[in-house]
Amino acid sequence: MPTVTITARGIERLNSGHLWIYRSDVLPPGGIEPGVVRVIDKKHHFWGQALYSDQSQITLRLLTRDDRPFDAAFLAERIRTAAAFRQQVAKGAQAYRLVASEGDLLPSLIIDRYGDCFVIQTLSQGMERFKSTVVEILQKEYAPRAILERNDVAVRALEGLPEQSGVLAGEEIGEVVVEENGVKMCFDLLHGQKTGGFLDQRENRAAAASYAHGCALDCFTYTGGFALALAPHCDTVVGVDSSADALGQAERSKGLNGFTNVEWKETNCFDLLKAADLEKQRFDTVVLDPPAFARQKTNLESALRGYKELNLRALKILNPGGYLVTCSCSFHVTEADLLEVIANAALDAHRTVTVVERRTQSRDHPILLTVPETHYLKCLILRVL
Ligand code: SAH
Repeated sequence: MPTVTITARGIERLNSGHLWIYRSDVLPPGGIEPGVVRVIDKKHHFWGQALYSDQSQITLRLLTRDDRPFDAAFLAERIRTAAAFRQQVAKGAQAYRLVASEGDLLPSLIIDRYGDCFVIQTLSQGMERFKSTVVEILQKEYAPRAILERNDVAVRALEGLPEQSGVLAGEEIGEVVVEENGVKMCFDLLHGQKTGGFLDQRENRAAAASYAHGCALDCFTYTGGFALALAPHCDTVVGVDSSADALGQAERSKGLNGFTNVEWKETNCFDLLKAADLEKQRFDTVVLDPPAFARQKTNLESALRGYKELNLRALKILNPGGYLVTCSCSFHVTEADLLEVIANAALDAHRTVTVVERRTQSRDHPILLTVPETHYLKCLILRVL
């Protein structure tokens, strides 16, 4: 197995529990093929095995500190361990993340399950080499109807990998229908965002439903995730998104559930919230689940302004006793940042607010304690007094 030597700073990274080692912390390896390598230091001390990339700034992604070769059997074992954890935290769920990259010690591998279909992403050169092995493992363990890849994501460019999507095994599939918290939901695995849906919000949608009442507004609804979860508990629900395709799917899900109290609005959520406030419309439940405003740290200031505006307007249109479910999926925006922004928004809106729950991504998206990047989603549930 090829060997890559890390510097003192590389050792520091591993000692801090991180799995990534940057190019600047690696001695020039020269001519090594992407794949699994042994990681050593200048004194030839062995540190573990990692996925090596000859293009990305993240040159090494640690797989194991063990000496036992990382092969198909090792990979299958990791996937089985991840699956066993889902038996605990996603018990009964039909759609969930089976493997969550670093969170399952399989950096750059995502496997999402939607009933009898699986969607995978291999997001580094090293993991790309294991793609067919992953397909074989899933076939053996689950005999699925289809396995798709959604490798049409921009981060692949950093690895010099092409963007591609399609069926890797099994049949061509259209929309799939899975039940989440008792609600039927349609997902387009080949064309939808991410791998079809935002599985990381499954538990938050259930939590939101437990407080929801009266008139509800779900901003950035995508395919209706929160709106459909709230529908059985509310008099009326309005789901808002700028994507007509996503709302078309939301409408099909609504029909499958026979809901008659939900409507969709295709428009910009900022404009809609502003107009609702001007027209003195009032709601009892508001959900804000915008896309990541801060994809890079340099966007932090403008992202915080965006979150402030959204939360300010949402708080203004909430009735006393109403709930605000507000999310940020920007890694660079911490929970403390978000709480501060909302506190300022509440002061400006002249609303007194309590924090009912401080939540994060569903547990099938594990947070690896020493890899802060794995904790990206914040979801706060607030009550207007
Ligand atoms: N809440 C959803 C996920 C939301 S993803 C769920 O539970 O599944 C973010 C969504 O915001 C996307 O569907 C995108 O189309 C939409 N979006 C982004 N900017 C928007 C804007 N300014 N106004 C309305 N929708 C927007």
